[in-house]
Amino acid sequence: MNTLAQDYVRLVLAMGQHDADYVDAYYGPPEWKPTGEKRPLRDIDGDAKALLMRLAAISPAAGDELVTLRHRYLTQQLSALRTRIAMLSGTRLTFDQESKALYDAVAPTRTRQDFERVLSELERKLPGRGPLVDRYNAFRDRYTIPKDKVDAAFRAAIEGCRAKTLAHVKLPADESFTLEYVTGKSWSGYNWYQGNYRSLIQVNTDLPILVDRAVDLACHEGYPGHHVYNVLLEQHLVRERGWPEYSVYALFSPQSLIAEGTANYGVDVAFPADERLRFEREVIFPAAGLDPAGAEAYYEVKALVDRLSYAGNEAARQYLDGKIDAKGAADLLVSWGLYSRPRAEQRVRFTDQYRSYVINYNLGQDLVAAYVERLAGPVDHTRRWQVFTGLLSSPRLPSGLSAPQPAVHDALR
Ligand SMILES: [Zn+2]
Repeated sequence: MNTLAQDYVRLVLAMGQHDADYVDAYYGPPEWKPTGEKRPLRDIDGDAKALLMRLAAISPAAGDELVTLRHRYLTQQLSALRTRIAMLSGTRLTFDQESKALYDAVAPTRTRQDFERVLSELERKLPGRGPLVDRYNAFRDRYTIPKDKVDAAFRAAIEGCRAKTLAHVKLPADESFTLEYVTGKSWSGYNWYQGNYRSLIQVNTDLPILVDRAVDLACHEGYPGHHVYNVLLEQHLVRERGWPEYSVYALFSPQSLIAEGTANYGVDVAFPADERLRFEREVIFPAAGLDPAGAEAYYEVKALVDRLSYAGNEAARQYLDGKIDAKGAADLLVSWGLYSRPRAEQRVRFTDQYRSYVINYNLGQDLVAAYVERLAGPVDHTRRWQVFTGLLSSPRLPSGLSAPQPAVHDALR
C-alpha cells in the first residue's frame, strides 16, 4: 500500500497548485512536490480514479485494525479529492451533498424553534432593556482581554493545556510550537503543522479577544488539539509505520472533521467544567487582568451560548444553498446564534472561503464526544484520555466513529 500512498500524496500536492487552501500541511520528501506547469484537473482526477481502482483491488491484511483503517482512509480521502476537483471544475452541490462528499458527514437541520429554549433561558440570565443579542454582547465585552495582556493570557493558557495533556499523553521530547499574532484573516486561530513535531500557531487579533478564547484556542490549536494530533500522527504513523500519506494534510477532506472535532472536544478532555472554572479563576483571569469574581457568571452564560452552535451550520447551509444572501446569513447568526455584527460578518467571510467546512467544528465535536464516551464511559477520566489519544494516533475517519469496531487504542498500547 505504500506505493499507492505515495501516489496519493503526489495527487494532493498537485491539487495545491490549483487551490491555495487545499494543502494544509506537508512535511514529506520535498522532491514529491510538483514543479513547473500545473497538471490539468482532469488529469489529476483520472489518476485519482485509477488509484481508487487499484485500492479496491487489494484487501488489507485482516487482524491489524490500523491497516484496515488505512485502506479505508485512502479510499475516502481520494473520493473527497475527486469531489473537490468536481467543485473546482464548476459542479454545484447542495450544502449537505458537499459536506457528505468532503467530510463524510451531514449536519442535522435545526430551526429557530430548536434554539428558543436556550434563548429564553439567556433572556432570564441577562435581564434588561433592548434585544437579547445586545445585552449578551455588552455582557461579553466586560470579559475582553486588554490588548497588552493578550500574550500573557495565551502563554498561561498554553502552559496549562500542555501540562494537562502531558499528564496523560506521552509526546516526543522535542515537540514545540511558535506563537504568532496576525490580522486580516477569516479565522480566529490557526495551527500550521511544519513536521518534526513543530507547529506554528497563529492568533488573529482583528477582533477583541474574549477571555474564553485563551483556553479554547490553546487547547484547540495546541494541546491536546491540532498540534498534538499532528505530532502523534507523525510519530506513530509516518515514522514508526513508514506510512507517507499522513505527512500531507488535505484540508477539504474527511480528516478535517476528525481534526476539528478532536480539537474542540479536547478542551473538555483537558478541562472538565469544574477544573476549567478553577483554572480560569486562578490563572487566566489574573493573567488577563480581569476580576476572577466574574468567572462563574461568564462560564454559566457561555455554556448556554455553546448550545447555539448549530445556528452557524444553518446560516451556512441556507447561504450556500442560495436561500439567503450574505446579509441574511449574518442576520441569522445574530438572531439565532447571538453573534455580534462584526463576528457574524467574519463568520460569513469564513463560510465564503471554507464553505461546508463549518460543520467540522460542532458536528465533529459531537461525533468525537459520542465515540470517546461510548468507549470510555462517562466518568473514567483516565480511560477518556486513553480513548481520545488512540483516536488522535489513528487514521480513523467520521463514518468509523459510529461503527462498532474494536478500539484502536488497545492496539496501540
Ligand atoms: Zn481548528
